[in-house]
Amino acid sequence: MKQVRECGFGLMAMFLLAGGLGAKTLPNVIIISVDAMRPDHISAFGYPRPITPNIDRVAKSGVIFLDATTTIPLTNPAQATLFTSRSISQTGVNRNGITLLPGNRTLAEILKEKGYHTSAVVSCWAAYHGRSGLQRGFEHYQDSGTGLMLELDAGVVTQRALKLLGSGIEEPFFLFVDYSEPHQPHDLYPAMGNQEPGLVDDDRPAVQKNYDSEIAYADYWIGVLLSELEARGWLQNSLVIIMSDHGEGLGEKNYVGHGRKLYEHILRNSLTISGPELPKGTAVQAPVNMLDVAPTILSYLGVKPPAEMEGRNLLPHIKTGSALEPEPMYYETNSTAVLDLPGLKKIGRTTPPTAIGLRVGDLKIVYDLKENTWEIYDLAEDPGENHNLFNPEDPDHRKLAEELLENFRAKSAAGKSLKLKFRP
Ligand SMILES: [Zn+2]
Repeated sequence: MKQVRECGFGLMAMFLLAGGLGAKTLPNVIIISVDAMRPDHISAFGYPRPITPNIDRVAKSGVIFLDATTTIPLTNPAQATLFTSRSISQTGVNRNGITLLPGNRTLAEILKEKGYHTSAVVSCWAAYHGRSGLQRGFEHYQDSGTGLMLELDAGVVTQRALKLLGSGIEEPFFLFVDYSEPHQPHDLYPAMGNQEPGLVDDDRPAVQKNYDSEIAYADYWIGVLLSELEARGWLQNSLVIIMSDHGEGLGEKNYVGHGRKLYEHILRNSLTISGPELPKGTAVQAPVNMLDVAPTILSYLGVKPPAEMEGRNLLPHIKTGSALEPEPMYYETNSTAVLDLPGLKKIGRTTPPTAIGLRVGDLKIVYDLKENTWEIYDLAEDPGENHNLFNPEDPDHRKLAEELLENFRAKSAAGKSLKLKFRP
């Protein structure tokens, strides 16, 4: 992988020559979301086990982001941020089962206004039956699951997507496909054509082997989907984004899963972007955020991101390697989901998060509200977050803690109702 340093503005020039947003010249936009897929378990990001040949193919034809972070390690809230580029205080979606607040414009709504045909297939219970509010702007939204079924199998998701593609869909289109594997429970999936021999024959803990088998399973079906897009001649005219909503704990720090902690392996999302006129085989080192994805997509299409979007347009950095000014990143997590019972959603929006965190440059501070503990890590020196540097007597640490609380007040759905004070 080489660092980003090339590529001009051919795509924009093409739009201009075509007289702006010409329907035929605009690329399709395809977002494939893979729930809880850690970047360090993808070969293109350096994982030594070759379990992701199809994701790797896309990653190698475009740009990978080595330091991409979610705003919240929960599916429904993270996708609300993905589609709106807005903080949790604005989306109101702080946990699974909560509906996007009115007044937020989604990526699908914007693309539909620009003439895109919009379709989605989702697989998480929090999005079933319009529960998430993220169906807004989609002409076709496949969100049927049963109340007892927490997630849909990747094979079912792919078949639904293929059916959509074969139903007379026209370019340009926006397609969002959401895979639930490798989300918990971490099951051992049967070998598919793309799994390395001996995937499960080593002495790693079962959770890690099962997790890898789930990623390989999702990757197999992603390959089926990509093949269909390619066969129809659509893939080469598409901006393809493969990403996860967050990472996953696999036993580090005695924790398996996501949603309760804010360690890097849980916050990192495996972001890859490829498309016409984008650099190929490049890696972005700079920290980027889930908030940055929608403004980058819109900018790529020559559409000015709405002022309310909080993320950055990453294109100049991707294309020319220009400096990407680091920005403080706020994140939080909430451990409980909100079910469809009267009154619960309103309460759910303002109940305290489990933990909140802020990253400023290489320094990261986390306050665990449940445990009443503070942690500070230097991510450059200690990427595994093994050495908590927090010292309540250190004025810099106290300043960082105050900055975290300021961000909490501005960016959390509970920030206004919960008066948090720094009491180390
Ligand atoms: Zn998720």
